[in-house]
Amino acid sequence: MSKGLVDIRVRQREFLLAISRALTAELDLGDVLRTILQASVEFISGYAGLVVLADPTDHRFRVAAALGIHKEAIESQPALVSGIPYTAGQEQDFLPIIGEEIQALSRLVSVQLDVSQTLLLPMQSGDTLIGMVYVFQDQNFVFTGDAAKLLQSFADQAAIAVKNARLYEQVISEKQRLNAILQQSADGVMILDAALNIEVFNKALSHITGFRASEVLNYHHDDIIKLHNLRTEENLHDAIARGWPEAGSHSLYVEGDIKKPNGDVVTIGATYAPLLNVRDRMINIIANVRDLTRYRQEEQLQKTFISVVSHELKTPVSIIKGYAGTLKRKDANWPRDVMEEYLGVIEEEADQLTDLIDNLLEASRLQAGTFKLNMTDSICLSTLARRTAKKFGTQTDDHTFELDFPEKFPEVMADERRLTQVFNNLVSNAIKYSPSGGVIKIGGTIQDDYVNVSITDPGIGIPAHESHRIFQKFSRLDNDLSRKTEGTGLGLFLTKAIVDAHNGRIWFHGNTDPQAGETGTTFTFSLPK
Ligand code: ADP
Repeated sequence: MSKGLVDIRVRQREFLLAISRALTAELDLGDVLRTILQASVEFISGYAGLVVLADPTDHRFRVAAALGIHKEAIESQPALVSGIPYTAGQEQDFLPIIGEEIQALSRLVSVQLDVSQTLLLPMQSGDTLIGMVYVFQDQNFVFTGDAAKLLQSFADQAAIAVKNARLYEQVISEKQRLNAILQQSADGVMILDAALNIEVFNKALSHITGFRASEVLNYHHDDIIKLHNLRTEENLHDAIARGWPEAGSHSLYVEGDIKKPNGDVVTIGATYAPLLNVRDRMINIIANVRDLTRYRQEEQLQKTFISVVSHELKTPVSIIKGYAGTLKRKDANWPRDVMEEYLGVIEEEADQLTDLIDNLLEASRLQAGTFKLNMTDSICLSTLARRTAKKFGTQTDDHTFELDFPEKFPEVMADERRLTQVFNNLVSNAIKYSPSGGVIKIGGTIQDDYVNVSITDPGIGIPAHESHRIFQKFSRLDNDLSRKTEGTGLGLFLTKAIVDAHNGRIWFHGNTDPQAGETGTTFTFSLPK
């Protein structure tokens, strides 16, 4: 073999080595293309070269790497800067057009570098032309068949590098997209590895559980999701212990309570789905987690509602029926005063029923969003207070009323019927929850742009920690008296809704501890003047 031929072979091997090193070193695409371009240019003792790639995102050919050509020379060709458009699938047809651009460039290059000939190597991926390698050379180089093949193999390597880089980009952007979907999902999502360690914990799940992702990643599932009050037959731990997921098995649903780091308890429902590989081995578990606390509370409320309301409706109805039945008896001739007493009871119970039905209607109007105030000018709160005291005074012998309103108490613009309901609810509570009787005070004060009305009773009081519960729908405090007295837990809920609708405020002070002075409660509401 001649020395010249040996030299060429050695150089060929060096170039191929450099290219395969560049390909495996996971360099960025520009570096790999430059390495290939360099090999191509040097191999034929060229002066300069250029790689042009078809960009499938906007269907334009663009310069991706250059060697031996000044940036300014490329930038002086506007078509090369903005990219040369092509129609998808017809990249091949653009070869001559791009050829023109390149010819122009090569003329420029030739001025700079004295290049006389341009060599074009298409870069193919399957049937698609994904780019071209241009080598600018002088005419002294004589091609052998081998050299042409080798040069084409450089271009093929470049095509592979581009394909790999695009696949990699696609995988990365797909991953980012999935990650974004996962993070933005309104449901809690968690991905576990095969050993049940947490790999992914999205924002919604952080919100539900109170744990930040950084606090739980790589922790075992059971250390973070500690379910109690299990409402399903098993939790993930039990299911895995009995062999879940068996081949072909479906997702697993688990429901129960967890305690947040701040002590709050939330009810969650989690669906675990196994991700199996081709050999049916589990590689991940994907868990979808929902906060069910509100549904459970609603369910509980619904149950309370039914039992409370049926009891509250039944009691007055059975009293009315009892008294009416007694009065109706043919064998009895009731004296006038007894008849009046019984009819009085019937009237009182019917009033109670009406109040209860009114409250229920108001509550459902609130829920349906059809609650509207019927405002009238100049409502006199002291008159309403007097009227309420008079009305309730006839219903109790153990309580007396004391009114304390300054003279010329400002009138307010309000819904009179609704404000009467507020007085009724607060005063009836004051009586109900003061079982030993005593004085109930209703007083008014003026403060800046507001008028305040307070109702003070000497009753059992309300513990301060119940303040967040007291105004909730159907909530009754758990004490002996609540158990003994009738009530729906709607009164304060509606009272607050009415005061809020008037742009007012309502609050209370309660003392339940006789050691700390007299027990009792003061409810105060304030309304804009
Ligand atoms: P209820 O129909 O049970 O009276 P409310 O909404 O009016 O419903 O009141 C809710 C709970 O708040 C009551 O069950 C009672 O435990 C407590 N409560 C309300 N007013 C008073 C008060 N003046 N003194 C003590 N406890 C009260």
